Amino acid sequence: MHEKYDVIIGLEIHAELKTKSKMFCSCDNDAEAKGANTVVCPICLGHPGTIPLANKQAIAWTILTGLALDCKVNKLSKFDRKNYFYPDLPKGYQISQYDLPLVYDGVLKVGDNDIKITRIHLEEDTGKSTHPGGKNFSLIDYNRGGTPLMEMVTEPVIPDAASAKKFCQQYQQILRYLDISNADMEKGQMRCEANISVQEKGKWEYKGKCEILSLGEYKLNPKVEVKNINSFKALEKAIEYEIKRQINAIEDGDELIQETRGWNEDKKETVSQRVKETSADYRYFPEPDIPPLNISDEWIEEIKKDLIELPHTKKDRFIRQYFFTDDIAEIIVSDKNLADYTENVISELRAWIDSNGDDWERQQKKLAKSVSNWLISELFKHLKEDNLNISDINITPENFAEFISLVYQGKVNSSAAQKILEEMYKNGGDPSNIMQDMGLEQIDDSAELEKTISEIITNNQKQVEEYKGGKENVLQFFVGQTMAATKGKANPKLVTEILKKLLS
Ligand code: ZN
Ligand code: MN
Repeated sequence: MHEKYDVIIGLEIHAELKTKSKMFCSCDNDAEAKGANTVVCPICLGHPGTIPLANKQAIAWTILTGLALDCKVNKLSKFDRKNYFYPDLPKGYQISQYDLPLVYDGVLKVGDNDIKITRIHLEEDTGKSTHPGGKNFSLIDYNRGGTPLMEMVTEPVIPDAASAKKFCQQYQQILRYLDISNADMEKGQMRCEANISVQEKGKWEYKGKCEILSLGEYKLNPKVEVKNINSFKALEKAIEYEIKRQINAIEDGDELIQETRGWNEDKKETVSQRVKETSADYRYFPEPDIPPLNISDEWIEEIKKDLIELPHTKKDRFIRQYFFTDDIAEIIVSDKNLADYTENVISELRAWIDSNGDDWERQQKKLAKSVSNWLISELFKHLKEDNLNISDINITPENFAEFISLVYQGKVNSSAAQKILEEMYKNGGDPSNIMQDMGLEQIDDSAELEKTISEIITNNQKQVEEYKGGKENVLQFFVGQTMAATKGKANPKLVTEILKKLLS
């Protein structure tokens, strides 16, 4: 928070939808690993005389996203032409939506802030230009041209870079939950752009509908749009940089202009690209080749059926129902597969508790702690190190639940459990079998342990003297010796008890 200025951020997020075919033609929508200009046709290449046909799935998914974000649906919607010239746009215009987007007026809660969503509309992606270094030509691949692109615009109500980043992360999770976009920023499947301005505190007012008004004589500072952002981290850095740059310019009396700036990841700075166009420059007009869309209540009801439980609702439920902490629940719901996996593990554990005639209500708090410890702290750590997802490993929820039950019953101690989990992580398999094969079953036999410990005491008289002389931490030496002698399988609690008894 700056003492003199307010920061005003609005976001525009484009996401490629993973429909089977492209937005207005029947070309394959998956161009990954395919040769340049091999997934194209006269329609997406904009040849004269071709007629675009709108993709129903893409429309349904945009409405679905709108419903997930509490948007209203425009029962009468239409496509418009956005005219501009660029080599990656063969038609000379992009089919987009202007005044009647599919959905509008929604909200996404980020922390304690309700971030208002202005609109979500559908359009087509452009081709991709590359500029080979040191050459006097550029290359264009039109495979991406015509990919369904869903554009979401927020109101300028985001107060800082961290909230903007959080918003994008939550939006990405929702798209992935709905299974409509891979939304990978590095691959350009999700592209976030931020509009940023700074205004003097108390001199302006938010009017709604993307409008900021000045109060009294105050002259509003222009907003700057930042593009070329390909990670959440870059988004946060770019916004922070831009806020500083704008405040410094104002303080130094330099003039700010409304412009588009690109984020330079290497130099960690924004660079002016062009002076911002206004919508008048695009000469929008209704797309004459696609009739207006009448969206029926029946269809909206049909689409609503795909509205599954979303991350924030799931998180609240996980905290309530399974006693996970806020932090752990957040990690679990960040990936729908991980959330599903966790619920499967818990349901297996519940079946196990029930079949033992135990009371689930009484045990589940302790089990939740064990699950979050072993699943999130331990297994998740391995996954992160290897850059894998829960769906990449072959530990079934049944086996993971059985593993938890071994720990829970004290059949293995914590260091043996680490070894079993490691083996399951590498090669899968049944944890009880692994425990037996590796001889990791915990030694709980007091008589056997007493025999081992007595020998250790006899052989280490010097340490015995020290302990009796008051050096209590020598006890750890004996615990260590016992663990070594039992290859780490002794029950540590029992070892301490026996040691205390024999040394007193
Ligand atoms: Zn095509
Ligand atoms: Mn757009």
